[in-house]
Amino acid sequence: MILKRVLPFSQELLTRVIEPGNSVVDATAGNGHDTVFLAELVGEKGHVYAFDVQVEAIQSTAEKLQQANLETRATLILDGHENVASYVETEIAAAIFNLGYLPGSNQEIVTKGASTIQAIEAILHKLKIGGIIVLVVYHGHPGGEDEKNSLMDYVRELPQSYVHVLSYQFLNQQNNPPFIIALEKMKAK
Ligand code: SAH
Repeated sequence: MILKRVLPFSQELLTRVIEPGNSVVDATAGNGHDTVFLAELVGEKGHVYAFDVQVEAIQSTAEKLQQANLETRATLILDGHENVASYVETEIAAAIFNLGYLPGSNQEIVTKGASTIQAIEAILHKLKIGGIIVLVVYHGHPGGEDEKNSLMDYVRELPQSYVHVLSYQFLNQQNNPPFIIALEKMKAK
């Protein structure tokens, strides 16, 4: 199978861009899977800033990092990603967002269009030229369609000289499969 499912494709994009020593953002730590993946990519001298608004998510991310012996490479932040500028001062090479709710947890705690866009704006500002933001857009849950629509309206309006915006999605799958929006920064604003 040459065409990749959405998650392996998001990881491939991150792998291509992130170099040892980079600072990166996991905007939705969730179960910690991506935080660990990023911590491996940034190496000993790099750093991951991982955000989540739920204590359970921060705890399971901390456990996953400890199991992998990578806890020194990440800072876990119990706050909304829209406040990223208050925590991250360095240049960022890449960021990932897994939108929606955390499976197995409270389905009412979901990412929302306005704060997601605020976080993207702040990260774009700190992103290095050639850096990327990967959004994995889950939209089958209540509120998901609204978030997807606001996001699509927002990214379509980004000037192409500033950011390249691509989407990667299955066009013939049932039940609102997640899809990817990838942003690559082309120049300073
Ligand atoms: N839908 C994905 C998982 C998404 S997890 C899947 O099925 O794999 C999304 C995470 O974002 C949750 O853990 C939730 O607590 C977190 N979250 C919600 N709003 C947030 C915000 N403003 N800032 C940071 N994290 C947020």
